[in-house]
Amino acid sequence: MKKELLTCLCLLFLAFGFSQTTEEIVEAIQKEANENSQLEPLAHQLMDVIGPRLVGTPQMKNAHDWAVKKYAEWGIIAENQEWGKWKGWQRGITHIDLVSPRVVSLSGMQLAWSPSTGKKGVTAHLIALPMVSDSLEFVKWLPKVKGKFVMVSMNQPTGRPDYNWEEFATEESFEKMKNERDAQQKEWGENMKNTGYTSRNINKALEAAGAVGILQSRWSNGFGANKIFSAGTDKIPAVDLSLEDYGLLYRMVKNGANPQIKIVAESEDMGAVPTFNTIATIPGKELPDEYVILSAHFDSWDGATGATDNGTGTITMMEAARILKKIYPNPKRTIIIGHWGSEEQGLNGSRAFVEDHPEIIKNMQALFNQDNGTGRVVRISGQGFLHAYDYVGRWLDAVPEDITKHIETTFPGAPGGGGSDYASFVAAEAPAFSLSSLSWSYWNYTWHTNLDTYDKIVFDDVRNNAILTAIMAYMASEDPEKTSREKATLIGKNPRTGEPRTWPKPRSPERNGGLN
Ligand SMILES: [Zn+2]
Repeated sequence: MKKELLTCLCLLFLAFGFSQTTEEIVEAIQKEANENSQLEPLAHQLMDVIGPRLVGTPQMKNAHDWAVKKYAEWGIIAENQEWGKWKGWQRGITHIDLVSPRVVSLSGMQLAWSPSTGKKGVTAHLIALPMVSDSLEFVKWLPKVKGKFVMVSMNQPTGRPDYNWEEFATEESFEKMKNERDAQQKEWGENMKNTGYTSRNINKALEAAGAVGILQSRWSNGFGANKIFSAGTDKIPAVDLSLEDYGLLYRMVKNGANPQIKIVAESEDMGAVPTFNTIATIPGKELPDEYVILSAHFDSWDGATGATDNGTGTITMMEAARILKKIYPNPKRTIIIGHWGSEEQGLNGSRAFVEDHPEIIKNMQALFNQDNGTGRVVRISGQGFLHAYDYVGRWLDAVPEDITKHIETTFPGAPGGGGSDYASFVAAEAPAFSLSSLSWSYWNYTWHTNLDTYDKIVFDDVRNNAILTAIMAYMASEDPEKTSREKATLIGKNPRTGEPRTWPKPRSPERNGGLN
Protein backbone atom coordinates (compact mmCIF):
# COMPACT_ATOMS: atom_id res chain seq x y z
CA MET A 1 0.00 0.00 0.00
CA LYS A 2 2.67 2.43 1.03
CA LYS A 3 4.72 1.59 -2.02
CA GLU A 4 1.74 2.17 -4.30
CA LEU A 5 1.10 5.54 -2.70
CA LEU A 6 4.70 6.47 -3.25
CA THR A 7 4.54 5.52 -6.94
CA CYS A 8 1.37 7.52 -7.23
CA LEU A 9 2.91 10.59 -5.62
CA CYS A 10 5.94 10.13 -7.76
CA LEU A 11 3.84 10.15 -10.95
CA LEU A 12 1.95 13.20 -9.76
CA PHE A 13 5.25 14.95 -9.17
CA LEU A 14 6.44 14.02 -12.64
CA ALA A 15 3.24 15.29 -14.23
CA PHE A 16 2.82 18.57 -12.39
CA GLY A 17 5.76 19.45 -10.24
CA PHE A 18 8.71 18.70 -12.41
CA SER A 19 9.38 21.48 -14.86
CA GLN A 20 11.04 20.56 -18.11
CA THR A 21 14.22 22.30 -19.10
CA THR A 22 14.37 24.65 -22.06
CA GLU A 23 16.40 22.05 -23.95
CA GLU A 24 13.73 19.43 -23.38
CA ILE A 25 10.92 21.73 -24.55
CA VAL A 26 12.87 22.81 -27.65
CA GLU A 27 13.61 19.17 -28.44
CA ALA A 28 9.93 18.22 -28.03
CA ILE A 29 8.79 21.13 -30.25
CA GLN A 30 11.11 19.98 -33.03
CA LYS A 31 10.05 16.36 -32.68
CA GLU A 32 6.35 17.24 -32.90
CA ALA A 33 6.92 19.54 -35.89
CA ASN A 34 9.03 17.00 -37.76
CA GLU A 35 7.22 13.77 -36.94
CA ASN A 36 3.60 14.91 -36.77
CA SER A 37 3.45 17.93 -39.10
CA GLN A 38 -0.06 19.15 -39.92
CA LEU A 39 1.14 21.73 -42.44
CA GLU A 40 0.13 19.82 -45.57
CA PRO A 41 -3.45 19.05 -44.52
CA LEU A 42 -3.83 22.63 -43.25
CA ALA A 43 -2.55 24.02 -46.57
CA HIS A 44 -4.85 21.73 -48.52
CA GLN A 45 -7.94 22.70 -46.54
CA LEU A 46 -7.17 26.41 -46.62
CA MET A 47 -5.88 26.88 -50.18
CA ASP A 48 -7.51 24.08 -52.17
CA VAL A 49 -10.90 23.75 -50.49
CA ILE A 50 -11.65 27.20 -49.03
CA GLY A 51 -9.69 29.08 -51.71
CA PRO A 52 -8.95 32.81 -52.02
CA ARG A 53 -9.83 34.98 -49.04
CA LEU A 54 -10.73 38.43 -50.33
CA VAL A 55 -12.26 40.61 -47.63
CA GLY A 56 -16.07 40.58 -47.87
CA THR A 57 -16.32 37.27 -49.74
CA PRO A 58 -18.09 34.15 -48.43
CA GLN A 59 -14.71 32.31 -48.72
CA MET A 60 -13.16 34.72 -46.21
CA LYS A 61 -15.98 33.95 -43.78
CA ASN A 62 -15.54 30.20 -44.44
CA ALA A 63 -11.84 30.55 -43.59
CA HIS A 64 -12.61 32.28 -40.26
CA ASP A 65 -15.14 29.56 -39.34
CA TRP A 66 -12.72 26.81 -40.38
CA ALA A 67 -9.94 28.24 -38.19
CA VAL A 68 -12.20 28.42 -35.13
CA LYS A 69 -13.17 24.76 -35.67
CA LYS A 70 -9.56 23.70 -36.20
CA TYR A 71 -8.47 25.37 -32.96
CA ALA A 72 -11.34 23.68 -31.11
CA GLU A 73 -10.06 20.30 -32.37
CA TRP A 74 -6.72 21.13 -30.75
CA GLY A 75 -8.35 22.23 -27.50
CA ILE A 76 -7.61 25.91 -28.10
CA ILE A 77 -10.30 28.55 -27.52
CA ALA A 78 -10.89 30.74 -30.59
CA GLU A 79 -13.50 33.21 -31.79
CA ASN A 80 -14.23 35.54 -34.69
CA GLN A 81 -14.19 39.16 -33.55
CA GLU A 82 -16.13 41.51 -35.80
CA TRP A 83 -14.31 44.80 -36.48
CA GLY A 84 -16.15 46.37 -39.39
CA LYS A 85 -18.14 46.01 -42.59
CA TRP A 86 -17.08 45.59 -46.20
CA LYS A 87 -18.69 45.41 -49.60
CA GLY A 88 -19.71 41.76 -49.97
CA TRP A 89 -18.88 40.15 -53.30
CA GLN A 90 -18.67 36.67 -54.72
CA ARG A 91 -16.69 35.70 -57.80
CA GLY A 92 -18.55 33.61 -60.40
CA ILE A 93 -17.47 32.12 -63.71
CA THR A 94 -15.13 34.10 -65.95
CA HIS A 95 -14.90 33.08 -69.58
CA ILE A 96 -13.20 35.23 -72.18
CA ASP A 97 -13.18 34.29 -75.87
CA LEU A 98 -11.92 35.86 -79.04
CA VAL A 99 -14.86 35.32 -81.43
CA SER A 100 -13.63 37.11 -84.57
CA PRO A 101 -11.55 36.91 -86.82
CA ARG A 102 -11.02 33.44 -85.27
CA VAL A 103 -12.11 31.67 -82.13
CA VAL A 104 -9.66 31.41 -79.21
CA SER A 105 -10.42 30.88 -75.53
CA LEU A 106 -8.32 33.50 -73.78
CA SER A 107 -6.54 33.23 -70.50
CA GLY A 108 -7.78 35.83 -68.05
CA MET A 109 -10.02 36.53 -65.10
CA GLN A 110 -12.26 39.24 -63.70
CA LEU A 111 -10.72 41.55 -61.14
CA ALA A 112 -11.89 41.74 -57.53
CA TRP A 113 -15.32 43.36 -57.04
CA SER A 114 -15.92 43.40 -60.80
CA PRO A 115 -19.59 44.01 -61.65
CA SER A 116 -21.32 41.06 -63.34
CA THR A 117 -22.03 40.65 -67.06
CA GLY A 118 -24.75 38.14 -66.21
CA LYS A 119 -24.85 34.67 -67.77
CA LYS A 120 -25.26 35.95 -71.32
CA GLY A 121 -22.09 37.98 -71.25
CA VAL A 122 -21.10 40.90 -73.47
CA THR A 123 -19.75 40.72 -77.03
CA ALA A 124 -18.03 43.77 -78.51
CA HIS A 125 -15.09 45.18 -80.46
CA LEU A 126 -12.00 46.63 -78.84
CA ILE A 127 -10.25 49.98 -78.65
CA ALA A 128 -6.87 50.82 -77.12
CA LEU A 129 -6.00 53.99 -75.20
CA PRO A 130 -4.72 56.61 -77.69
CA MET A 131 -1.57 58.71 -77.44
CA VAL A 132 -2.72 62.24 -76.56
CA SER A 133 -0.90 65.50 -75.99
CA ASP A 134 -3.30 66.81 -73.34
CA SER A 135 -6.53 66.13 -71.46
CA LEU A 136 -8.59 68.11 -74.01
CA GLU A 137 -7.52 65.72 -76.73
CA PHE A 138 -8.39 62.81 -74.44
CA VAL A 139 -11.85 64.22 -73.71
CA LYS A 140 -12.42 64.60 -77.47
CA TRP A 141 -11.43 60.96 -78.00
CA LEU A 142 -13.51 59.57 -75.09
CA PRO A 143 -16.85 59.13 -76.98
CA LYS A 144 -15.13 56.54 -79.21
CA VAL A 145 -15.20 54.02 -76.32
CA LYS A 146 -18.99 53.77 -76.45
CA GLY A 147 -20.02 50.14 -76.92
CA LYS A 148 -16.41 48.89 -76.85
CA PHE A 149 -14.02 47.05 -74.56
CA VAL A 150 -11.12 49.36 -73.73
CA MET A 151 -7.53 48.11 -73.47
CA VAL A 152 -5.87 50.14 -70.72
CA SER A 153 -2.44 48.52 -70.25
CA MET A 154 0.82 49.03 -72.09
CA ASN A 155 1.56 46.20 -74.49
CA GLN A 156 4.72 44.51 -73.16
CA PRO A 157 7.51 43.97 -75.71
CA THR A 158 8.44 40.60 -74.20
CA GLY A 159 6.84 37.99 -71.98
CA ARG A 160 10.24 36.61 -71.01
CA PRO A 161 11.51 37.72 -67.60
CA ASP A 162 14.84 39.54 -67.57
CA TYR A 163 16.70 36.60 -66.03
CA ASN A 164 15.77 34.58 -69.11
CA TRP A 165 17.10 37.29 -71.44
CA GLU A 166 20.22 37.51 -69.35
CA GLU A 167 20.83 33.80 -69.78
CA PHE A 168 20.19 33.49 -73.51
CA ALA A 169 20.24 36.84 -75.31
CA THR A 170 23.37 38.41 -76.72
CA GLU A 171 24.46 41.28 -74.53
CA GLU A 172 23.63 43.80 -77.29
CA SER A 173 20.18 42.38 -77.85
CA PHE A 174 19.35 42.41 -74.11
CA GLU A 175 20.55 46.02 -73.83
CA LYS A 176 18.54 47.04 -76.88
CA MET A 177 15.36 45.43 -75.53
CA LYS A 178 15.77 47.12 -72.14
CA ASN A 179 16.41 50.53 -73.67
CA GLU A 180 13.40 50.28 -75.96
CA ARG A 181 11.20 49.06 -73.13
CA ASP A 182 12.36 51.87 -70.82
CA ALA A 183 11.54 54.44 -73.51
CA GLN A 184 8.14 52.84 -74.11
CA GLN A 185 7.37 52.84 -70.37
CA LYS A 186 8.37 56.47 -70.05
CA GLU A 187 6.18 57.45 -72.99
CA TRP A 188 3.29 55.40 -71.56
CA GLY A 189 3.56 57.11 -68.18
CA GLU A 190 3.68 60.57 -69.76
CA ASN A 191 0.72 59.77 -71.95
CA MET A 192 -1.31 58.63 -68.93
CA LYS A 193 -0.52 61.96 -67.27
CA ASN A 194 -1.64 63.77 -70.43
CA THR A 195 -5.06 62.13 -70.23
CA GLY A 196 -5.57 63.80 -66.84
CA TYR A 197 -6.15 60.40 -65.20
CA THR A 198 -4.10 57.69 -63.49
CA SER A 199 -4.16 53.94 -64.03
CA ARG A 200 -6.20 53.85 -60.80
CA ASN A 201 -9.05 56.15 -61.83
CA ILE A 202 -9.17 55.99 -65.62
CA ASN A 203 -11.55 53.00 -65.57
CA LYS A 204 -14.32 55.11 -64.02
CA ALA A 205 -13.96 57.75 -66.77
CA LEU A 206 -14.14 55.08 -69.47
CA GLU A 207 -17.18 53.56 -67.80
CA ALA A 208 -18.90 56.95 -67.66
CA ALA A 209 -18.20 57.42 -71.39
CA GLY A 210 -20.05 54.23 -72.30
CA ALA A 211 -17.36 51.53 -72.51
CA VAL A 212 -18.80 48.02 -72.04
CA GLY A 213 -15.76 46.62 -70.26
CA ILE A 214 -12.10 47.10 -69.34
CA LEU A 215 -9.22 44.85 -70.42
CA GLN A 216 -5.94 45.10 -68.59
CA SER A 217 -2.78 43.06 -68.34
CA ARG A 218 -0.68 43.85 -65.31
CA TRP A 219 2.43 41.81 -65.87
CA SER A 220 4.43 40.73 -62.81
CA ASN A 221 7.73 40.26 -64.71
CA GLY A 222 7.69 36.46 -64.47
CA PHE A 223 6.57 33.82 -66.99
CA GLY A 224 2.76 33.80 -66.95
CA ALA A 225 2.46 35.91 -63.80
CA ASN A 226 0.02 38.84 -63.57
CA LYS A 227 -1.07 40.95 -60.61
CA ILE A 228 -4.80 40.67 -59.96
CA PHE A 229 -6.19 43.64 -57.98
CA SER A 230 -9.56 45.38 -58.00
CA ALA A 231 -11.79 46.39 -60.91
CA GLY A 232 -12.33 50.08 -60.12
CA THR A 233 -15.67 50.12 -62.00
CA ASP A 234 -19.29 50.33 -60.78
CA LYS A 235 -21.27 48.78 -63.64
CA ILE A 236 -19.01 47.29 -66.30
CA PRO A 237 -16.71 44.27 -65.91
CA ALA A 238 -12.94 44.65 -65.68
CA VAL A 239 -10.75 41.67 -66.51
CA ASP A 240 -7.04 40.90 -66.54
CA LEU A 241 -5.68 39.02 -69.57
CA SER A 242 -2.44 37.04 -69.74
CA LEU A 243 0.42 38.95 -71.30
CA GLU A 244 0.33 36.95 -74.52
CA ASP A 245 -3.45 37.06 -74.98
CA TYR A 246 -3.46 40.80 -74.31
CA GLY A 247 -0.63 41.18 -76.81
CA LEU A 248 -2.53 39.13 -79.41
CA LEU A 249 -5.58 41.41 -79.14
CA TYR A 250 -3.43 44.53 -79.02
CA ARG A 251 -1.60 43.62 -82.23
CA MET A 252 -4.91 42.86 -83.92
CA VAL A 253 -6.36 46.23 -82.88
CA LYS A 254 -3.25 48.14 -83.98
CA ASN A 255 -3.00 46.35 -87.31
CA GLY A 256 -6.67 46.67 -88.24
CA ALA A 257 -7.76 43.03 -87.74
CA ASN A 258 -10.74 44.43 -85.81
CA PRO A 259 -11.03 41.66 -83.21
CA GLN A 260 -14.27 40.94 -81.39
CA ILE A 261 -14.40 39.22 -78.01
CA LYS A 262 -17.03 37.85 -75.69
CA ILE A 263 -16.73 38.18 -71.94
CA VAL A 264 -18.82 36.27 -69.45
CA ALA A 265 -17.87 37.49 -65.99
CA GLU A 266 -20.46 36.52 -63.45
CA SER A 267 -20.33 37.81 -59.91
CA GLU A 268 -22.68 38.70 -57.10
CA ASP A 269 -22.83 41.94 -55.14
CA MET A 270 -23.85 40.93 -51.63
CA GLY A 271 -24.22 44.34 -50.00
CA ALA A 272 -22.56 45.13 -46.68
CA VAL A 273 -21.13 42.14 -44.80
CA PRO A 274 -19.34 41.97 -41.42
CA THR A 275 -15.56 41.48 -41.35
CA PHE A 276 -13.59 39.61 -38.69
CA ASN A 277 -10.30 38.73 -37.04
CA THR A 278 -9.96 35.16 -35.78
CA ILE A 279 -8.42 35.29 -32.30
CA ALA A 280 -7.22 32.11 -30.59
CA THR A 281 -6.00 32.06 -26.99
CA ILE A 282 -3.89 29.76 -24.81
CA PRO A 283 -4.37 31.31 -21.34
CA GLY A 284 -1.29 32.10 -19.28
CA LYS A 285 -0.98 30.50 -15.83
CA GLU A 286 1.34 32.85 -13.99
CA LEU A 287 0.98 36.15 -15.85
CA PRO A 288 -2.36 35.79 -17.68
CA ASP A 289 -2.56 39.54 -18.35
CA GLU A 290 0.70 39.64 -20.29
CA TYR A 291 0.62 38.53 -23.91
CA VAL A 292 2.75 36.88 -26.55
CA ILE A 293 1.08 37.21 -29.95
CA LEU A 294 1.55 35.07 -33.05
CA SER A 295 0.41 37.13 -36.01
CA ALA A 296 -0.37 36.61 -39.69
CA HIS A 297 -3.00 38.14 -41.92
CA PHE A 298 -5.69 35.74 -43.00
CA ASP A 299 -7.08 37.53 -46.05
CA SER A 300 -5.66 37.49 -49.56
CA TRP A 301 -6.24 38.97 -52.98
CA ASP A 302 -8.21 36.58 -55.13
CA GLY A 303 -6.16 36.11 -58.29
CA ALA A 304 -5.25 32.64 -57.01
CA THR A 305 -5.48 31.05 -53.56
CA GLY A 306 -3.15 33.30 -51.58
CA ALA A 307 -0.83 30.36 -50.86
CA THR A 308 2.26 32.45 -50.08
CA ASP A 309 0.38 35.67 -49.23
CA ASN A 310 -0.46 34.77 -46.66
CA GLY A 311 -1.47 31.11 -46.52
CA THR A 312 2.03 30.09 -45.45
CA GLY A 313 2.16 32.71 -42.65
CA THR A 314 -1.26 31.53 -41.53
CA ILE A 315 -0.43 27.82 -41.36
CA THR A 316 2.93 28.63 -39.72
CA MET A 317 1.11 30.34 -36.83
CA MET A 318 -1.58 27.64 -36.61
CA GLU A 319 1.00 24.86 -36.57
CA ALA A 320 3.10 26.69 -33.96
CA ALA A 321 -0.03 27.13 -31.81
CA ARG A 322 -0.95 23.45 -32.16
CA ILE A 323 2.56 22.38 -31.15
CA LEU A 324 2.66 24.80 -28.20
CA LYS A 325 -0.70 23.59 -26.92
CA LYS A 326 0.61 20.02 -27.01
CA ILE A 327 4.15 20.56 -25.65
CA TYR A 328 3.65 23.68 -23.50
CA PRO A 329 -0.04 23.68 -22.54
CA ASN A 330 0.35 25.91 -19.48
CA PRO A 331 2.31 28.94 -20.64
CA LYS A 332 3.48 31.51 -18.11
CA ARG A 333 2.05 34.38 -20.18
CA THR A 334 -1.09 34.22 -22.35
CA ILE A 335 -0.42 33.27 -25.97
CA ILE A 336 -2.74 34.82 -28.55
CA ILE A 337 -2.85 33.87 -32.21
CA GLY A 338 -4.19 36.72 -34.38
CA HIS A 339 -5.45 35.96 -37.90
CA TRP A 340 -6.19 39.43 -39.25
CA GLY A 341 -8.77 40.39 -41.86
CA SER A 342 -8.18 42.87 -44.67
CA GLU A 343 -4.45 43.40 -44.36
CA GLU A 344 -4.36 43.85 -48.12
CA GLN A 345 -6.51 46.99 -48.06
CA GLY A 346 -4.37 48.67 -45.37
CA LEU A 347 -3.68 46.51 -42.26
CA ASN A 348 -7.33 47.00 -41.32
CA GLY A 349 -7.86 43.94 -39.10
CA SER A 350 -4.73 44.45 -37.01
CA ARG A 351 -5.25 48.22 -36.73
CA ALA A 352 -8.77 47.54 -35.46
CA PHE A 353 -7.41 45.03 -32.91
CA VAL A 354 -4.87 47.57 -31.65
CA GLU A 355 -7.60 50.21 -31.36
CA ASP A 356 -10.10 47.87 -29.68
CA HIS A 357 -7.75 46.15 -27.18
CA PRO A 358 -5.56 48.76 -25.47
CA GLU A 359 -5.26 46.49 -22.39
CA ILE A 360 -3.60 43.78 -24.50
CA ILE A 361 -1.32 46.20 -26.36
CA LYS A 362 -0.22 47.75 -23.06
CA ASN A 363 0.81 44.36 -21.68
CA MET A 364 2.15 42.80 -24.85
CA GLN A 365 5.43 40.98 -24.22
CA ALA A 366 6.14 40.42 -27.93
CA LEU A 367 4.52 39.77 -31.28
CA PHE A 368 5.87 37.67 -34.14
CA ASN A 369 4.42 38.30 -37.60
CA GLN A 370 5.12 36.43 -40.80
CA ASP A 371 3.96 37.67 -44.18
CA ASN A 372 6.38 37.51 -47.07
CA GLY A 373 6.11 34.11 -48.55
CA THR A 374 6.98 30.50 -48.10
CA GLY A 375 10.74 30.86 -47.50
CA ARG A 376 12.64 30.08 -44.32
CA VAL A 377 13.14 33.10 -42.07
CA VAL A 378 16.34 34.97 -42.96
CA ARG A 379 15.91 38.39 -41.31
CA ILE A 380 14.77 39.67 -37.93
CA SER A 381 15.04 43.35 -37.04
CA GLY A 382 14.78 44.98 -33.61
CA GLN A 383 12.21 47.29 -35.24
CA GLY A 384 13.67 50.31 -33.44
CA PHE A 385 13.33 49.00 -29.87
CA LEU A 386 16.55 49.87 -28.09
CA HIS A 387 16.81 46.73 -25.97
CA ALA A 388 15.46 44.24 -28.50
CA TYR A 389 19.01 42.98 -28.91
CA ASP A 390 18.92 41.65 -25.33
CA TYR A 391 15.59 39.91 -25.29
CA VAL A 392 15.21 38.83 -28.93
CA GLY A 393 18.82 37.72 -28.77
CA ARG A 394 18.13 35.73 -25.61
CA TRP A 395 15.15 33.98 -27.23
CA LEU A 396 17.07 33.25 -30.43
CA ASP A 397 19.80 31.60 -28.35
CA ALA A 398 17.39 28.78 -27.57
CA VAL A 399 16.68 28.12 -31.27
CA PRO A 400 18.72 25.33 -32.88
CA GLU A 401 21.60 26.41 -35.03
CA ASP A 402 20.26 24.78 -38.18
CA ILE A 403 17.47 27.39 -38.04
CA THR A 404 19.39 30.44 -36.77
CA LYS A 405 22.28 30.00 -39.17
CA HIS A 406 20.01 31.38 -41.94
CA ILE A 407 18.95 34.43 -39.91
CA GLU A 408 20.59 37.83 -40.12
CA THR A 409 19.62 40.14 -37.28
CA THR A 410 19.66 43.96 -37.21
CA PHE A 411 19.55 45.79 -33.86
CA PRO A 412 18.09 48.14 -32.91
CA GLY A 413 16.77 48.43 -36.48
CA ALA A 414 14.03 50.89 -37.39
CA PRO A 415 10.27 50.87 -36.85
CA GLY A 416 9.70 50.64 -40.60
CA GLY A 417 6.65 51.60 -42.60
CA GLY A 418 3.40 49.75 -43.08
CA GLY A 419 4.64 46.57 -44.78
CA SER A 420 2.51 44.17 -42.78
CA ASP A 421 0.53 43.81 -39.56
CA TYR A 422 3.49 44.03 -37.15
CA ALA A 423 3.56 47.73 -38.10
CA SER A 424 0.14 48.29 -36.49
CA PHE A 425 1.66 47.21 -33.15
CA VAL A 426 5.02 48.95 -33.58
CA ALA A 427 3.11 52.20 -34.19
CA ALA A 428 1.46 51.65 -30.79
CA GLU A 429 4.99 51.25 -29.35
CA ALA A 430 4.45 47.57 -28.58
CA PRO A 431 7.41 45.25 -29.34
CA ALA A 432 6.38 43.53 -32.58
CA PHE A 433 8.76 41.75 -34.91
CA SER A 434 8.66 40.56 -38.48
CA LEU A 435 9.95 37.08 -39.25
CA SER A 436 11.13 37.91 -42.73
CA SER A 437 11.47 35.13 -45.28
CA LEU A 438 13.79 34.16 -48.08
CA SER A 439 12.14 35.37 -51.29
CA TRP A 440 11.67 32.26 -53.49
CA SER A 441 10.79 34.76 -56.29
CA TYR A 442 7.91 36.10 -54.19
CA TRP A 443 7.73 39.57 -55.75
CA ASN A 444 7.55 38.49 -59.38
CA TYR A 445 5.80 35.15 -59.18
CA THR A 446 3.42 34.83 -56.26
CA TRP A 447 2.82 38.16 -54.51
CA HIS A 448 -0.75 39.23 -55.50
CA THR A 449 -0.58 37.18 -58.70
CA ASN A 450 -2.64 34.58 -60.53
CA LEU A 451 0.09 32.04 -59.65
CA ASP A 452 -0.04 32.16 -55.85
CA THR A 453 -1.07 28.55 -55.40
CA TYR A 454 -0.37 25.41 -53.31
CA ASP A 455 2.38 24.13 -55.65
CA LYS A 456 4.60 27.11 -54.69
CA ILE A 457 4.68 26.17 -51.00
CA VAL A 458 8.05 24.87 -49.78
CA PHE A 459 6.98 22.78 -46.81
CA ASP A 460 10.47 22.23 -45.37
CA ASP A 461 10.92 26.00 -45.05
CA VAL A 462 7.45 26.48 -43.57
CA ARG A 463 8.15 23.74 -41.01
CA ASN A 464 11.43 25.49 -40.15
CA ASN A 465 9.40 28.66 -39.52
CA ALA A 466 6.77 26.90 -37.39
CA ILE A 467 9.55 25.52 -35.15
CA LEU A 468 11.22 28.93 -34.91
CA THR A 469 7.91 30.64 -34.06
CA ALA A 470 6.96 28.07 -31.42
CA ILE A 471 10.36 28.34 -29.70
CA MET A 472 10.37 32.16 -29.81
CA ALA A 473 6.82 32.22 -28.37
CA TYR A 474 7.81 29.79 -25.61
CA MET A 475 10.93 31.80 -24.74
CA ALA A 476 9.06 35.15 -24.77
CA SER A 477 6.36 33.65 -22.59
CA GLU A 478 8.82 32.19 -20.06
CA ASP A 479 11.16 35.20 -19.94
CA PRO A 480 11.62 36.31 -16.30
CA GLU A 481 11.65 39.93 -17.47
CA LYS A 482 8.99 42.01 -19.12
CA THR A 483 10.28 43.39 -22.42
CA SER A 484 11.49 46.98 -22.62
CA ARG A 485 9.72 49.39 -24.98
CA GLU A 486 12.40 52.03 -24.91
CA LYS A 487 12.80 53.42 -28.40
CA ALA A 488 16.12 53.88 -30.13
CA THR A 489 17.02 57.33 -31.41
CA LEU A 490 16.14 57.31 -35.09
CA ILE A 491 18.98 58.38 -37.29
CA GLY A 492 18.67 59.94 -40.74
CA LYS A 493 15.93 61.69 -42.65
CA ASN A 494 12.58 60.64 -43.98
CA PRO A 495 13.29 60.29 -47.72
CA ARG A 496 9.80 61.55 -48.55
CA THR A 497 9.73 64.72 -46.45
CA GLY A 498 13.42 65.41 -45.82
CA GLU A 499 12.52 65.87 -42.12
CA PRO A 500 14.34 63.93 -39.36
CA ARG A 501 12.81 60.47 -38.99
CA THR A 502 10.12 59.98 -36.36
CA TRP A 503 8.31 56.99 -34.87
CA PRO A 504 5.21 56.10 -36.99
CA LYS A 505 1.84 57.12 -35.53
CA PRO A 506 -1.00 54.62 -35.00
CA ARG A 507 -3.56 54.79 -37.80
CA SER A 508 -7.24 54.00 -37.70
CA PRO A 509 -8.49 51.13 -39.83
CA GLU A 510 -10.97 51.44 -42.69
CA ARG A 511 -14.04 49.91 -41.03
CA ASN A 512 -16.50 50.44 -43.86
CA GLY A 513 -14.73 49.35 -47.02
CA GLY A 514 -16.03 49.60 -50.56
CA LEU A 515 -19.43 50.84 -49.33
CA ASN A 516 -20.92 54.14 -50.45
ZN1 LIG B 1 0.58 39.62 -47.19
